[in-house]
Amino acid sequence: MKLVFLGTGGSYPTPERNVPCTALKYKGEIILFDCGEGSQRQLMRSSLSFMQTDKIFITHFHGDHFLGIPGLVQSMNMNDREEPLYIYGPEGTVSLLKDLLSRGYFGAGFPIHISELKPEARLDFDDYHISALKVNHGVPSIGYSFEERDKKGRFDREKALDLGIPEGPLFSRIHDGKTVEINGKVIHPEEIVGPPRRGKKIVYTGDTRPCQTVIEASIGADVLIHDSTLDSSMSDRAMERGHTSTVMAAEVASKADVKKLFLIHISPRYTDGKGLEDEAREIFDKSKVPDDLFEYEL
Ligand SMILES: [Zn+2]
Ligand SMILES: [Zn+2]
Repeated sequence: MKLVFLGTGGSYPTPERNVPCTALKYKGEIILFDCGEGSQRQLMRSSLSFMQTDKIFITHFHGDHFLGIPGLVQSMNMNDREEPLYIYGPEGTVSLLKDLLSRGYFGAGFPIHISELKPEARLDFDDYHISALKVNHGVPSIGYSFEERDKKGRFDREKALDLGIPEGPLFSRIHDGKTVEINGKVIHPEEIVGPPRRGKKIVYTGDTRPCQTVIEASIGADVLIHDSTLDSSMSDRAMERGHTSTVMAAEVASKADVKKLFLIHISPRYTDGKGLEDEAREIFDKSKVPDDLFEYEL
């Protein structure tokens, strides 16, 4: 599983940073959180294939977060995509995107499923679920929490063979938590299988002021990706505009005790993220301002 920060800027693109789009590569699929203008080109510049994008989660309908969708969809179409694409967002998503995707002389040749999520909605998939989070930005906005299911414990193959269990279906049986009997001896799964391994959790806020729902949803998260539009000297201005400053984002990460904080939606006024990262690290030392195309393995 890895995160690829395709666009780490906010409001409008600069030569250094594109507008928000963060990709999560999970097994064979790519999930995008926000899809600002030019995100398809960022995907092409990255290690990811844009054609593998399965799901797009939009936080809100300020242009820097969704204007990349029509271009991406049209490029998928020109490359003969057949697989469905799923797009989710807050209230207003269905009518806005249906309208947007019907503009021009264009009709997609593959299914596009568009859904609206209420804050606190939960979508269950095979190996993970994604929940919407109410955030505070001044327009209908939601953040997202990706939570992988806990995984089975590690299977000690050598020990299983030593105990006389033949390789084959009995391995799966005991890995699934069932006891097996070999030559009259009962073998319990805990003898061979370790404790379940906790699934990974990633929280993506989109644009928001610091808020309690994000703190609560982020407790113990492996990664928090937080709005960090302005530096600490402009915290009041960030709040007025529905955003968060570096130090305020670091305080959220510290309260939630996350393992890693990524600060994104960096204002176009900053050409270098170093100063922003330094001041966040004074409060939360696991803070990072990623550059565009930065990759993080989980
Ligand atoms: Zn924005
Ligand atoms: Zn916004």
